[in-house]
Amino acid sequence: MSSFVAFTHPREAPELLEREVPSCRPGEVLVRVEACGLGAADFGFFQLDALPRVPLIPGLEAVGIVEATGGGVGVAVGTRVGVVPLASTCGGCDLCGRGLERWCTKAELHGWHRDGFLSQHLVTTETALVPLTTADDPTRFAPLFATGWTAFSAVRATGMGQGHRLGVVGVGGLGHLVVQIARAAGFEVRAFDVDPARLALAGESASARALETDSVDAVIVCTPSTQAIQQAVRSVKRGGTMVLAAASPSVRFDLSLFDTVMRGVTLAPAFLGTRSELAELIHLVRSGVVSPRTTTIALTDVHSKFWMLRDGGFSGRLVVTPTT
Ligand SMILES: [Zn+2]
Repeated sequence: MSSFVAFTHPREAPELLEREVPSCRPGEVLVRVEACGLGAADFGFFQLDALPRVPLIPGLEAVGIVEATGGGVGVAVGTRVGVVPLASTCGGCDLCGRGLERWCTKAELHGWHRDGFLSQHLVTTETALVPLTTADDPTRFAPLFATGWTAFSAVRATGMGQGHRLGVVGVGGLGHLVVQIARAAGFEVRAFDVDPARLALAGESASARALETDSVDAVIVCTPSTQAIQQAVRSVKRGGTMVLAAASPSVRFDLSLFDTVMRGVTLAPAFLGTRSELAELIHLVRSGVVSPRTTTIALTDVHSKFWMLRDGGFSGRLVVTPTT
């Protein structure tokens, strides 16, 4: 048997359940999960009035070992792999052709259209796999395949770099990686979080300060909060960019149309990124330039510790380790 954690009822914490070890069809791969990142996007399902599927297994990023294949794939049993949430795309549309396949209308996402990764075993396509080495620590690498990837592309989405001042709002699992990646790219970073411990993680003084109006060239919003977005847009100088990097299915926001347009603020989304961006990020982590901070919990404890996602009080990205 194989354990997994899934939402079964709206507005209730996900439960620990069991199933047969899933089988894979031709072109698919069975992965024994070693570590799975969990964050605000997963918590967002809890806040929905209706689940998109039942049971809904959350979890958008994982590291594991290939345990079996359905044939027709180029990855060997025993290989350590990172798993991204993008299971498949059409491959033929304009978006796919421009490296923007994450927004393909036919994109199939784990944790939404297919099971997520919060389980002892997952089944996915070869497309979703990134080969790793035995030296790549599963817990440290798990946050790279959705959160870190998004963090990297969010920094790129500013269109800025060396010498520019970047605001980072929210220094949790996503934000602390944005801070590190942005510093590596030469930005002068101003991080903001209501939690002094999280600010310390960003190397900021514990005296939490709000981002001042017109104080940064670009800002990246790393928390799915209406208030954070409204504060962040005011912190951008005229002609600057606000990147929205935290998605949640249950959060809405409204901004002053006049302020946004007349101050020339560009709004840009960040969700995953290009394959070459993911490769660059993995290189930064292997070389020690970027170092993900994680807090680990067991799969069997997700139900009781689920509220950590709402209440915080932990450092970096929450990573779940299924024990077998
Ligand atoms: Zn497409």
